[in-house]
Amino acid sequence: MPTISTFDMFKVGVGPSSSHTLGPWRIVQRFLRELGEAGHLANLVGLRFELLGSLALTGRGHATDKAVCLAVLGEDPETIAVDSIEQKLTWLAGARSARVGDREIPFDPTADIRFQRNERHPDHANAMRCVAVLGDRELVRTYFSVGGGFITAEDEPEGDATGARAMPPHPVRHAKDLLRYCQETGLPVSGVVMANEKTWFHEEEVQRRAIAIWNTMRESARRGCRIEGVLPGGLNVKRRAPAFLRDIVPDIQREDIERLVKTVREANLPFDQIVRVVSCYAIAVNEENAAMGRVVTAPTNGAAGVIPAVLMYRACFGPEPITEDEVTRFLLTAGQVGALFKQNATISAAMGGCQAEIGVSSAMAAAGLAELIGASPAQVLMAAEIAMEHHLGMTCDPVGGLVQIPCIERNAMGALKAIAAATLAEQSDPAFARVSLDEVIEVMWDTAREMNERYKETSLGGLAVKLSVTVGLAEC
Ligand code: SF4
Repeated sequence: MPTISTFDMFKVGVGPSSSHTLGPWRIVQRFLRELGEAGHLANLVGLRFELLGSLALTGRGHATDKAVCLAVLGEDPETIAVDSIEQKLTWLAGARSARVGDREIPFDPTADIRFQRNERHPDHANAMRCVAVLGDRELVRTYFSVGGGFITAEDEPEGDATGARAMPPHPVRHAKDLLRYCQETGLPVSGVVMANEKTWFHEEEVQRRAIAIWNTMRESARRGCRIEGVLPGGLNVKRRAPAFLRDIVPDIQREDIERLVKTVREANLPFDQIVRVVSCYAIAVNEENAAMGRVVTAPTNGAAGVIPAVLMYRACFGPEPITEDEVTRFLLTAGQVGALFKQNATISAAMGGCQAEIGVSSAMAAAGLAELIGASPAQVLMAAEIAMEHHLGMTCDPVGGLVQIPCIERNAMGALKAIAAATLAEQSDPAFARVSLDEVIEVMWDTAREMNERYKETSLGGLAVKLSVTVGLAEC
């Protein structure tokens, strides 16, 4: 899949999960679109959605059922007003019907969304069976949510969606290809990626999209730094980002992100406070994610806080205020590293545990930051390798099936490791590196396949069992 674009890796959506919220949302949209294209909507009298494997085990806590409802209502994750979500869900629960195409059909979320906790699809951990009742017969189609909001149908090879694109001038399958292109062209990593993106978009469009992503990331950080209270789901997790920021910079103004960054830049903070600021931004974004706020999958929702926190680190503590060109270069570099993991391993926690989410996001952020601090292409790839090397084997065990514990704090850890990895790589000679990025990706995938299912987004092991909280699973 050397046709994955940066903008496939960064998708605007709502929390809390790219594989369990955004993916199922896109699956329902696709299923309804395909029904319409086949002319079936005129005969539609009912819909049923059956969640299998990890989607069934943690779908309640990950808001899979809510995503399905919103998709049936015709909403889109990129454009829905996040403050209206609860009201729309309450309305549907009462009405028990929805308009699909030009037909009003019965749809009762409690009966028509089924969590098949004892059923696992043989081909994928995140499967969803979609059933359309057409008069007296049923049309059944199964789809997989393969991580990061990517979806595929049961009978379609993964990558079909991007495979239809034109091949770019520098098709990158492995990190070694990327390095070779950089050496041949003299371009930095972001330059090679930009040349590829220009196969599909004008350069101005690439920049416009990158800045739109950055603005969405900043907005989720801003909202997260402002909104107090307790996260939904029943775990009673307190939102901490606003208090953290208040402790670091009392009386800080949070209404305007530019002023917020300027205040932090001018505060001349010592090292321990810098660590707190970075952690605060990561936590802020993931508290927003946990509250079904708008975030950017980077490359997933569970890990949505890592890259914004590292970009905010650069914005707040870099030698000069961050420029739009730097933001674009960061995101192109990070996106390419994420694509390498997607192509050669996985970015789905249901396939590979948290190393596939926080580990990959940390590697992406490390590469992006290394690109901005003057690292060579080999050092950029080394930064990604270092960040992943120290996330290998990290399990996914969300308590109560919610994307809160350990997820929120884990974003802070991923961001801080990314900064350390970029700094280490920029000081190192890659000629002496004993482990390459391609090798660490291979090891990550081997580890993913050997990891016990209990630690792959099922909430059947680790902290999820030790804390014996069942809020997300209570009604399954
Ligand atoms: S533990 Fe990691 S992979 Fe699992 S839901 Fe939380 S952030 Fe995602």
